[in-house]
Amino acid sequence: MPIHILPDAVASQIAAGEVVERPASVVKELLENSLDAGASKITILIQQAGKQLIEVSDNGTGIPAVEVSLAVTRHATSKLASAADLFAIRTLGFRGEALASVASVSRSTLTTRTQTEETGSRLVVDGGDGGRLERLAYPVGTTVRVENLFSNVPARLRFLKTDATERQQVHSLVTRYALAYAGVQFTLLDDGKTVLQTSGSGDRREVLASLYGVDTARQMLEVVFNDGEFAIEGFTSPLALTRSNRREMTFFINGRWVQDTSLNAAMVQAYSGLLMVGRFPISVLFIQLPPEEVDVNVHPAKAEVRFRNSDRVFSAVQRAVRRAVMAYSPIPAIPPQKLWGPAAAQSGVSLPQATGLDWQFAREAGLSGEGQPSVPQAALQAATIPESLPAGSLPLLRLIGQIGATYLVAEGPDGLYLIDQHAAHERVLFEKLMKQRSTEVIMQPLLQPVNVQLAPHQAASLADSLDALNSLGFLVEEFGGSAFRVRALPAVFSSSDPETLLRAVIEEIEEDESPMQSEIEARIASRVCKRAAVKGGTVMTQEEQLALLRDLEKCQSPRTCPHGRPTMIHLSVDLLERQFGRRGSR
Ligand code: ADP
Ligand code: MG
Repeated sequence: MPIHILPDAVASQIAAGEVVERPASVVKELLENSLDAGASKITILIQQAGKQLIEVSDNGTGIPAVEVSLAVTRHATSKLASAADLFAIRTLGFRGEALASVASVSRSTLTTRTQTEETGSRLVVDGGDGGRLERLAYPVGTTVRVENLFSNVPARLRFLKTDATERQQVHSLVTRYALAYAGVQFTLLDDGKTVLQTSGSGDRREVLASLYGVDTARQMLEVVFNDGEFAIEGFTSPLALTRSNRREMTFFINGRWVQDTSLNAAMVQAYSGLLMVGRFPISVLFIQLPPEEVDVNVHPAKAEVRFRNSDRVFSAVQRAVRRAVMAYSPIPAIPPQKLWGPAAAQSGVSLPQATGLDWQFAREAGLSGEGQPSVPQAALQAATIPESLPAGSLPLLRLIGQIGATYLVAEGPDGLYLIDQHAAHERVLFEKLMKQRSTEVIMQPLLQPVNVQLAPHQAASLADSLDALNSLGFLVEEFGGSAFRVRALPAVFSSSDPETLLRAVIEEIEEDESPMQSEIEARIASRVCKRAAVKGGTVMTQEEQLALLRDLEKCQSPRTCPHGRPTMIHLSVDLLERQFGRRGSR
């Protein structure tokens, strides 16, 4: 084939691949256009996860009739004149690509009117082919209607995730923009259902409540920082409120939602030493910097940015958040003195790492070095589970008692066992739950059903998993909007708090997108068991200790918790003799 210039329609489709990857990216581009047009009211409709329809209407400036067909032309923009402007961008758009790209992979209808015009105009573009401009009565503002997205690029359709995932992406995108632009009234309708409605009052905490629920929103700490040039504001979670993934760390730079690993890292660093390993904060930060400090033209979708001085941004974020967290740290529920007595605290006995909070308290009191229970290093290495015992069986253990309100001490025929009560209980609950599932699920109806208010994107994923939950013994039903009602729990959890369990389930569902059904059940089960299991730092009665030990002996895999961590440390007679110099070289 000789070299030739690609027809415009083909070039547009190629370019479109970079800008519009999925329904949520279309919504993002259209939203950004509405915001750039100064809209104070934006309504978003999607149908069939946006594949059938995406429509964004605003009451912004509108587009003059003579410019409408230009607006859907590639590299046509009203926001940028010269390359030099690139480093002083104050609008969300500037590449002049979005409308053309969207129009080349869908059937798009642009309807608009400006303040100074008497009538509105409408243009339909089907797969890149523009029709004739029509004049019609229309209020000031713009509506972009995108139908049959990707129907002319079937390959891209096949790359889309499940409808639930695509919808969730749209929901979480719109909610985040609603939060960033709290002064704008947003409405999001998904298949006719109102998923989000903000008042446009400018109160971010109000929007936060629709994203994370009222309880969470109330607990979030305020972040404020200003050094004259950099300004940061927003919210971050207290130590007791964490997630198991990094997905809930959101950053806006100069009003633009960006994904940036160094910002994530700064956030994690701000909490370093305060959260348990594998837990992450929830945060939404709005960072303002002089436009010349940030290059937004790194990627066509404008989701990545480059900073002129990234260390400075990193340290500003880290300091601002750290300060907020330290200033608001609440007094932990169980002061260490209660558990250990003041004498122990002074003598530097290390505390168990019960919860992030207790641990932080301990650190501040100058107690535990690493926050880990102190077991001699040599003992730890030698104390691996003996190979001689067949996996899955424990010898009969004689309970000696509980130490530090966290470990059980027991004696077996071959030495001493230290059992982590939390990990052990997790294992016991997990096996009970999985076992009843294969025979008959035993549900325990709640005397008082419990309503739980979720964020819209969480509600969407939970709704898809109700069957999986049901086969584990949870009876959960939709309760209007993004609320759910818990009617029954698996009998093994009868003494647990239904809401806590449900939230654990959601965390697990959010972790992965399309796992196998059987797999997701096991993962949900393990997450829920972790939440329901007796915590370290809980004093147990002798009967409870005994029951736990007996239950553990009955387990198939008693030596690890469902997440793979050990439930026990075994100090064999042999090891003890060696450590005391009764035998061997030492
Ligand atoms: P960009 O936003 O990068 O300029 P787009 O392709 O998204 O490129 O939009 C092209 C132009 O169409 C914009 O520069 C703007 O002038 C106009 N436009 C698009 N959407 C709207 C809207 N909702 N309200 C007013 N003008 C709009
Ligand atoms: Mg744009």
